[in-house]
Amino acid sequence: MKITFYGVRGSIPSPGPDTARYGGNTSCVHVALGDGQNLILDAGTGIRELGKKLAETDDTINILLSHGHWDHIQGYPFFQPIYQPDRLIRVYTSADENHGQLCALFDQIDGANFPVKAGDLPSRSKCIMDDPSSLLMADNIQVQRIRINHPGGGYAYRIEDDTVSCAFITDNELDPPYELSTTYDQWVEFCRGVDVLIHDAQYLESDMPHKHGWGHSLVSQVRKLAVDAEVGSLVLFHHDPDRSDSEIDSIQRENENYFRNIHAPSRSLCAAEGLQIHLKSRKNQLASLEVN
Ligand SMILES: [Zn+2]
Ligand SMILES: [Zn+2]
Repeated sequence: MKITFYGVRGSIPSPGPDTARYGGNTSCVHVALGDGQNLILDAGTGIRELGKKLAETDDTINILLSHGHWDHIQGYPFFQPIYQPDRLIRVYTSADENHGQLCALFDQIDGANFPVKAGDLPSRSKCIMDDPSSLLMADNIQVQRIRINHPGGGYAYRIEDDTVSCAFITDNELDPPYELSTTYDQWVEFCRGVDVLIHDAQYLESDMPHKHGWGHSLVSQVRKLAVDAEVGSLVLFHHDPDRSDSEIDSIQRENENYFRNIHAPSRSLCAAEGLQIHLKSRKNQLASLEVN
């Protein structure tokens, strides 16, 4: 499994000299599975660069959408494969009868908010409301999803490929003031033993209490989850648009101190555009992990 980060920022794109190293594009992560299947987690502005690479292939593209907020969908109209005739794109929407638009990716391509209408696109795009585990599952691949605690709802995903695994949990408030969709204990079970946990860590204690209830977690809460669930590596994701590179460097240093004498996670990283994590399956052993 190879995980590549194309957009790591939350809320709104934030280009500029203070954010250039970690990157200003919004949520998009590519997961290349061992059997050659492509999974894309979210379609924020980071998906534009990824689209240029995928346009050179003719692979089927599977998109798992966490939810329909702008920072998770806005790159899709600029995703080159949607303009390729007969390209098959399967979008697993986060919507259901109780939550949000049917397919936020297509609904924004309406001729008014964007000059093209989704119905005029030449690609064969499908919006699928079923649980992705039923359709994506191959012999060695499993996808599970669980509801996030976030205004408007949505899903987090756990992907298992042979003996390696990752969890993608963005826009999730571990301790919200509103009714929980998923309890802390359920999160610990969902993440239990995963090789790579990618989790929303938008806020610091200094953001509180003002932003309590906005749908995101504190770095300190995510560290605790990583320890309680004994994950292999933790990747902090969905950085606040006002968090500068030097502030994220400070979070990285604090993480290294925090986890220094802790058995798991063995590694903690702040997500950056271009970060690539290669998880190699090893039978009956911990997965080996290379970071570029
Ligand atoms: Zn977001
Ligand atoms: Zn959101």
